[in-house]
Amino acid sequence: MKKKAAGAEKLERHWFAIGGIAFLPLLLAYLFLSALPERPEPASIEVAVAPMAAPSGSTAEVSRDGHSLLLKDDGSTAQAELRFTIPRDATQASHWVLWVRRVPLQSLRLSAGENWQPGPRSFLQPDAEDGVLPVGYLFRLPSVWEGDIRVQLEASSLRKSALHPEVVSEAAAMEYMQRATMIVIAAYASLFTLALLSLALYFASRDMTFLSFFGFCAVGLMQIAAHNGHLYQLDSLGLFAGLGSGGFGAMSLIFEAAALRILLRYTDLPKARQDWARKINVGTIALLLLACALLAWGANVSHLATAALPAVWLAGGLVGLMVLLDAWRRRVTMAAAVMCSLLAIAAAVIVSELTAIGVVRSTLLTHYGYQVAIVLCALMLAVGLISRISKYREQRDREQRAREESERKLYREAVRSELLSALQMSLRGLDEEEVQPAAYRLLLEHLHRIVPTSLALAMTRGYLGSDVLMSWPPAALERMSEQDLTRRQTLRQQLSGSIDLQYPVTKPGEAIAVAMEAAVSMPIRAPAWGALVLERVGATAFHPDELIIARDLARITVQQIEEAVTALKLRHTAEVDALTGSMNRRSIDLSLSRTFQHAHRNHQPLSVLFVDIDHFKTFNDMFGHACGDFCLRELARVLKTTLSVEDFLGRYGGEEFVVILPGRQTEMARAVAEELRVAVEASEFRWNERTLRLTVSIGVASRLDGESLPQPALERADRALYSAKRAGRNRVQVAPAVFKPRSTMAGS
Ligand code: GH3
Ligand code: MG
Ligand code: MG
Repeated sequence: MKKKAAGAEKLERHWFAIGGIAFLPLLLAYLFLSALPERPEPASIEVAVAPMAAPSGSTAEVSRDGHSLLLKDDGSTAQAELRFTIPRDATQASHWVLWVRRVPLQSLRLSAGENWQPGPRSFLQPDAEDGVLPVGYLFRLPSVWEGDIRVQLEASSLRKSALHPEVVSEAAAMEYMQRATMIVIAAYASLFTLALLSLALYFASRDMTFLSFFGFCAVGLMQIAAHNGHLYQLDSLGLFAGLGSGGFGAMSLIFEAAALRILLRYTDLPKARQDWARKINVGTIALLLLACALLAWGANVSHLATAALPAVWLAGGLVGLMVLLDAWRRRVTMAAAVMCSLLAIAAAVIVSELTAIGVVRSTLLTHYGYQVAIVLCALMLAVGLISRISKYREQRDREQRAREESERKLYREAVRSELLSALQMSLRGLDEEEVQPAAYRLLLEHLHRIVPTSLALAMTRGYLGSDVLMSWPPAALERMSEQDLTRRQTLRQQLSGSIDLQYPVTKPGEAIAVAMEAAVSMPIRAPAWGALVLERVGATAFHPDELIIARDLARITVQQIEEAVTALKLRHTAEVDALTGSMNRRSIDLSLSRTFQHAHRNHQPLSVLFVDIDHFKTFNDMFGHACGDFCLRELARVLKTTLSVEDFLGRYGGEEFVVILPGRQTEMARAVAEELRVAVEASEFRWNERTLRLTVSIGVASRLDGESLPQPALERADRALYSAKRAGRNRVQVAPAVFKPRSTMAGS
């Protein structure tokens, strides 16, 4: 269907050109037919041609019907006597003319004794008597002539031809001349117009084919003008006349070369059949060389040329036919029509050759058929070539589309990799619950750049333990009604597997779609679920490519979310103590040095606590290690909940914890420690239906001025803890600013 429509459109686009050119052959055919003489030709008198011996001794030949004198092209002069009877009818007597169709004669001389000797005529030097575009040689007969008349004729020809003298009424001759002139003018005008057209098309398209076609039309025009003897009319320098009979042959060869050239271009042979094209090119060059040889040594080689030319024409014609047959098989536009017109040319040439040897009688059709066929061929070629313009345009459009498509692809690729690097960059430092919203925001932002939408939603249910809903533009979510949201959330049932959905959105109570909505599922493992919903105002559907892109970007995003979450988890396991969930020793060391550096730089207070469970070994021994582990975990939870968020709790090792209290000086730290101690003391741990209690001892130490490393403060806290233990456990002991040596302390 689409193809048909495109064809119709193409036809519509070119119907002006095609119609215009199709009109020309019709016009030409009309002119030609209307120019055909009515039969029987009115008022013509039979002329018998009786050959006479020439001064050289040879006798001229006459056609079988005895009405035409056959001339050779060897420059010899043929003589004959024309015998006819003018009726004794007073009304017509003054209007008889002797008329000979314009064959290429070197000279034509008529005489009837001493009384009537009209001037000699020549093809190459037209006489004013013959008119502007002469179509024949016209001799007015003396009005007093009647009865049997004898006229001597002496002629020499440039080409082999049949001279067919007729005696007709002047009116009939004039009518014939007008008809012939019309045909000739129509042929000249057609070829001239086509030549101009092809030149214009060449300048518009810069396609050498049109230049070749221009060459074909121009050479064709010259060729038929030479054939009709009109070229010499224009030739004030006598240049063409000087070429003589060699010029005829040369002209026909050049025309043949031009014809092969245009056929080559027209049928796109160099692309389709390189070997043929190469051979034909060589042949064309050979034709041109032959033409040059004829022009240079015309007189000397004319015999040879006369013998060879028909063979060369035949060969050229066969090659042309072969090329066109091949083109027809390859479905080249108008190839069949051009082939038919080439056959018409061939037929016309054969007929005119038969006329020249007197087998066929010369008529308007035999004389001008060849020219009409050439024009017809040129017209067919023109139609074929013009229809090709649309092909160029299609090709150009196709190339343009391909270019746009690749640009679009490049842009998509760029946006895709931008999204990827944006996700990699921005998901890195986020907490787990922030990852999804940030990722979807980036996804929607980037998607919007390559798939324009009026609204886009990214939603997930139960993915990574949460439900997320994001929109583009971001404010759209607030404007959305509850109903709208629930409708979209029911998509889950419809969006099964990897099939994308697309459907028109109608306003309640209306049938006409106000927007198109498409849903693309996100590659999230069940039972979690996620989809991208795209909406575009208007009734234009989303292109499948757009949904593929959306799916691809969604896939990248989900992948990046998963990587980010996995990385988060990995980091967590590297930092967190597996048993208690508080920070591990490595994290404690890192935090200690970081917070000490920071406090030192900013001259801020900072305290550390050492927390140790009392008699835990005994506890373990009494209730078992599993119970010990459980209570250790519970105790860590108690500590964690008692501390505020900016405080840091880590398991230092065994049953010892470290607490970092940024911004607290000693007194505040002691208060916190006391709080912790009380909280533990008050906690009951239930294990196997038993209620257990634990107590902790805590050592407190604060950073001293100028201390940038944690080690001294830690040691002081440790010692304070030791003294708390010694003092009876379940208590808080603050380390003095500068610890006295243990022995001194023990002594005090
Ligand atoms: P105190 O500190 O009051 O002087 O007595 P204590 O019994 O707590 O003394 P100590 O520090 O020598 O003993 C620590 C005990 O903690 C040894 C070990 O049985 C127990 N412990 C250390 N790590 C773990 C653990 O991960 N799980 C369990 N269940 N027990 C642990
Ligand atoms: Mg201990
Ligand atoms: Mg202990």
